[in-house]
Amino acid sequence: MEHVLCGKCVRCGREYPAVPDLKTCGCGGILDITYDYDRIRPRLTKDVLAGRRTPSMWRYRELLPVEADTPAPPLRVGWSPLYDAPRLAEQLGLKELWIKDDGLNPTASLKDRASSMAVAKAREAGAQVIACSSTGNAASSLAGNAAAAGLQTYIFVPSRAPQGKVAQLLTFGATVLSVQGSYEDTFELSKAAIARWGWYDRNAAVNPYLSEGKKTVSLELMEQLGWCVPDYVALSVGDGCTIAGVWKGLKDLYALGLIDRLPRLISVQAEGCCPLNRAIAEDAPWRPMEENTLADSIAVGVPRNAEKALMAIRESHGLVVNVSDEEILEAQKLLGRTCGVFGEPAGVTGTAGVRKLCEQGVLGAKDTVASIVTGNGLKDVANAIRANGSPISVAPDMQQLLQAFADNGIDPA
Ligand SMILES: *Cc1c(COP(=O)(O)O)cnc(C)c1O
Ligand SMILES: [Zn+2]
Repeated sequence: MEHVLCGKCVRCGREYPAVPDLKTCGCGGILDITYDYDRIRPRLTKDVLAGRRTPSMWRYRELLPVEADTPAPPLRVGWSPLYDAPRLAEQLGLKELWIKDDGLNPTASLKDRASSMAVAKAREAGAQVIACSSTGNAASSLAGNAAAAGLQTYIFVPSRAPQGKVAQLLTFGATVLSVQGSYEDTFELSKAAIARWGWYDRNAAVNPYLSEGKKTVSLELMEQLGWCVPDYVALSVGDGCTIAGVWKGLKDLYALGLIDRLPRLISVQAEGCCPLNRAIAEDAPWRPMEENTLADSIAVGVPRNAEKALMAIRESHGLVVNVSDEEILEAQKLLGRTCGVFGEPAGVTGTAGVRKLCEQGVLGAKDTVASIVTGNGLKDVANAIRANGSPISVAPDMQQLLQAFADNGIDPA
């Protein structure tokens, strides 16, 4: 990998050679993969990309930490649609709003970007078995991407994981351990099992390559926007790996001269579980919190990538905002009704934060915002039905239909 320099500890600065099974620093800090931008700059230009057909995250191979001959894993991950959302922008009072629907990845969340990278690196490491712990989406994405590549998976999820995600895991043939405990308990058990059996580790806060997969969402966002940088990029935050990846991608593009400024990040967490946003708001070290939100994917009381996430928010002069479960379900409806986009609760939490900042007058008519929907609503239909109520029940009869319309105050004529 001539274009990769090393893995550098974000805590103590120590540098490690970028071997395929690279983990955390001896000091416990998380590593950041560093690149030789001078080498990459002439190879990855706007023109090169414009002529490239690969409709996946692997179109940015020059900026990914893999060997030249490592095959891209089979599932088509990335190149998710970016929608202009003029009606929602108008409703919120924003100049421009774009919605990047990463729920349309093969296993229906942004986590596919990290899992595709994990599968590529596991192959380089010669591993046959990959393992992770997850609130649900990292698990289902790993199971799917590994299945497509012929690798075996051990997956640890908290027992609260929604049925849709568990159904995916079982369908993809993972060995699924449903842990009777919190996400923290789940993480610790997976860590001990990985240490014991030596499986390839797809825990995003341990394996530094996974953020590099996640950063492709920013690379795409900017290419899809014609390299015009929005003022803000909003997304939901749990462990903090995603927001760290998003920031890494933006900084890569800036270092390569593909964008001429950096947007500010908007970190959105649930009121019932916001340890990272609280640390920013109080300008204090983060402290654990209860995992008290229906947005299961970001119910992370002990964030595993706090250092990188806090650094990303601070470096970008970012905003932090917390939203209630009601505001999350409200945003789910709003995205559905104005954009036809169906996100899971954690998937729409970024947009819920944008809406709240508009209501507070922090964002307004001069601002352009890109909001990332990180997971698909079909993963968790129970909460969507809870937010939206039931359909109108009717017998198969025209008189009954007329009556039902009348009863519900609907005039179809
Ligand atoms: C994992 C996840 C997040 C948050 O990502 P972190 O890296 O944990 O901060 C947000 N939304 C969805 C749908 C997710 O699955
Ligand atoms: Zn270190």
